[in-house]
Amino acid sequence: MKRTFSLIVVALFLFSCSASEERLEFREQGNEVPEFRSENTFQYIEEQLAFGPRVPGTEAHRNAVEYFRDHFQATAGSRAVYIQQFEQEIYGDTLPFYNVLASFGGANQDRIVLAAHWDSRPRADKDSQDRDQAILGADDGGSGVAVLMELANIFSEHDLPIGVDIILFDGEDYGEEGDLANYFIGSRYWSQNPPVPGYSPRFGILLDMVGGQGARFPKEGHSISFAPNLVDEIWAIAAKKGFEDLFLDERGGRVADDHIIVEQYTGIPMINIIHHNLNENGVIEFPPYWHTHRDNIDIIDRDVLQAVGEVMLELIYNRIPKEESN
Ligand SMILES: [Zn+2]
Repeated sequence: MKRTFSLIVVALFLFSCSASEERLEFREQGNEVPEFRSENTFQYIEEQLAFGPRVPGTEAHRNAVEYFRDHFQATAGSRAVYIQQFEQEIYGDTLPFYNVLASFGGANQDRIVLAAHWDSRPRADKDSQDRDQAILGADDGGSGVAVLMELANIFSEHDLPIGVDIILFDGEDYGEEGDLANYFIGSRYWSQNPPVPGYSPRFGILLDMVGGQGARFPKEGHSISFAPNLVDEIWAIAAKKGFEDLFLDERGGRVADDHIIVEQYTGIPMINIIHHNLNENGVIEFPPYWHTHRDNIDIIDRDVLQAVGEVMLELIYNRIPKEESN
C-alpha cells in the first residue's frame, strides 16, 4: 500500500514538472511579426521626463499615472486598465503608490506578463553633486515603460496569439542604498495582493534600463535560475537578428529587482533584461549614468530601444506554441 502511494506521488510530481516545463518551450510558429517603432518609444521617454522626476508623493508622479492610464485605455480599452492604488509609510512619509495594469487579448486564458518600473529615484546617490535631488530616470524607469507603451500600440493594432498583461510597477527605486526592504514596493504589493486571484501566466519579462547608450544585456543570474529556456530563447532571437553585441551570450550578475519579488511571492517565472556588467571580481556594475543626473534623454539610444522591441515582438508573436488542450 505504501509503495503504491509513493509511486502515485512520484507520477504526479513528474506530470506537474513536465506540464510547467511545457509552458516554457518555444518554437518558431511561422507567424507574421509586426514592426516596432523606436521613434514612438523615444517620444514616450521624452513625455515621461517632461513631468519631471516621477517620485511618489509628487505632482509629477500623479500626472504620470494619468498619462499612463490614458495611453493604456486608448490601446487596451477602458475596461482593460486597472490602477492598483495603495499607501505606505516609508522613511516617515505616508506615500501614495500606483501600479498600472493593462490586459490585452483578455478572452485568452493563456497569458504572459510584461513589466517595468515607472517611478524614478528620489535621489542621485551616485552623482558628485545634488545627491539629494531626484533624478529624471530616462533609462532607469523611463525606457522600460516606453517600450511597453509602444508594444501596447502594436497589441491594439495586431491580433495577439496569446493574452498579454502589462504591469507598470511603482516604487521600485525608492529605497536608500542597501535598504532593499524599501525597494520593490509596487511589485511586493501586487504580488501579495493579486487583483486576479490564482493568476498564473506562463512567464513574465521585466524590462529595466533597456534604452541606454552602450547597453549590454548579459543573461541575468536569477533569470537563468527562474526560466532558463526563456532566457535562452530570447538571447537566441537576438543573436539571429544580429543583436549579439547587445544581448551577450554570457552569464551576468544576480541583480536584485522586481522579478525576484514576483517569483518569490507568486511563483511566476519572471526574467529580467537589464543593462549591467559583471566585472572580473564578480561585482555587478551598472552604466556610468546610473543613479546620477546624467540619466536623462541625452543617454538614450534609439537603436537599443529598437533592438529590445524587435526581440520582444518576435518572441510574443512568433515563438510561443499554443497550449495543448489535455
Ligand atoms: Zn535604479
